[in-house]
Amino acid sequence: MSVRVRIAPSPTGSPHVGTAYIALFNLAFARRHGGKFILRIEDTDQARSRPEYEQHLLQSLSWLGLQWDEGPDVGGSCGPYRQSERLPLYQQYARQLVEAGHAYYCFCTPQRLEEVRAEQRKLKLSLGYDRHCRDLPLAEADQRRQQGEAHVVRLKMPLEGKSVLQDTLRGAIEFEYSLLDDQVLLKSDGFPTYHLAVVVDDHTMGITHVIRGEEWINSSPKHLLLYERFGWTPPVYTHLPLLLNPDGSKMSKRRNPTSIDYYRRAGYLGPALLNYLGLMSFPPPGEDEKFSLPQWVDHFDLAKVSLGGSVFDLDKLLWLNARYVREDLSADALLGELKKWLLNDEHLGQLVPLMHERMETLGDFLPRCAFFFARKVECNAEDLVPKKREAQEAVQVLQTVLWALEGALPWGRDPVEEAIRKVSEFWTWPIREVTGPLFAAIMGQKVGPPLFESIALLGLDLSRARILDAMTVLGGLSKKKAAELEERWKAGKQG
Ligand code: GLU
Repeated sequence: MSVRVRIAPSPTGSPHVGTAYIALFNLAFARRHGGKFILRIEDTDQARSRPEYEQHLLQSLSWLGLQWDEGPDVGGSCGPYRQSERLPLYQQYARQLVEAGHAYYCFCTPQRLEEVRAEQRKLKLSLGYDRHCRDLPLAEADQRRQQGEAHVVRLKMPLEGKSVLQDTLRGAIEFEYSLLDDQVLLKSDGFPTYHLAVVVDDHTMGITHVIRGEEWINSSPKHLLLYERFGWTPPVYTHLPLLLNPDGSKMSKRRNPTSIDYYRRAGYLGPALLNYLGLMSFPPPGEDEKFSLPQWVDHFDLAKVSLGGSVFDLDKLLWLNARYVREDLSADALLGELKKWLLNDEHLGQLVPLMHERMETLGDFLPRCAFFFARKVECNAEDLVPKKREAQEAVQVLQTVLWALEGALPWGRDPVEEAIRKVSEFWTWPIREVTGPLFAAIMGQKVGPPLFESIALLGLDLSRARILDAMTVLGGLSKKKAAELEERWKAGKQG
């Protein structure tokens, strides 16, 4: 049986380095075993999935040199490769489970579910569905469905016994069925949940090995039960350790840039980032820490991956990237890279209109918009705190700017302006007390092109990194304070 592996990212945000890291392992495993590496788009979360994120994801993975053999853009024999285009398949399999008595239609309204949860909270019980509809006769359920009553399909979890996951790296992991809820498989809008879709797709796409992040371990018993109920052979599972911040916490965008796009925009080279991901998680034998993808793949052995977790160290990545620039690129090749990056008509053409009114001579252009090309900018505390305000207030304001920008969708100048106005209203600070410090954080200079346009062009990932750097200059924000502030921000009230 030939090896088939996949990644199954959800297009719900900027493409994450964690996705590249999982993709790298899958690709290496496929190449080592002469198999196929598949890209499937899990876009069943209608509210959060966006086609532009999918586009972005494909571009970012290609930029890194992680090429898939089958996928939504290149096709293949098991398409479509986008879950939203496979709905009839999930509906058919859900019905099959219901008819076999392994799943059931549930008509409980969101309101009833909320009441059940409220009661469980009151009695300090664990929260979950009370299986109210589990024993409804199918004929009655079908009749209610035909009358148009809203419903979901739920999996009948066994009430006792154990599920055992055999993981390549972790051995046997046991789960008590009695602790598991009757999972929704098909939602009331006819879309599958992750659990049904992943099993149906992995099976119908002939996936032999599932190599994914450890955050999915707890979903595995539901998946294994589905395989059993369908009478299918499950794939071999490997759950990889998470990427970590240097302090050992889970890598998150609040600490380290996590978007592949950040690294591209900040001027890192794709092969260097890929080399770094490989080095961090599976250093090959020998002294040299710089190697190509084929060299890495040659040594790759999935069973030998350490469970320690992989610490993402920006300084080390920077050191490695510098070696790629110096050792691998001739002056001509470097010029080519610079042009591909930002020194091209497309990007410069976006900057010129912003700078048009802000130049006396052509010689003013580059110095005044250099911040668009910089990996980092320097700013000092003085420029980040409005007169008569405290540094700790300014940090909090910057934090809310960041949250507001994260919600500025679809990304562009006007949503950016709206986000920043929202911050000024929240704090009842005059808008210039928000834009002034933000200007310094983003540009590291006192004069420059218009702020909203600049943030829009710079993009969320680089803007986030600069705002976080500015917050550090001001002494940072403790986790506790950030959590309190987030609550107030979400409630839209200063408290
Ligand atoms: N959609 C999941 C993700 O975003 C896929 C998890 C899996 O590989 O099963 O990572």
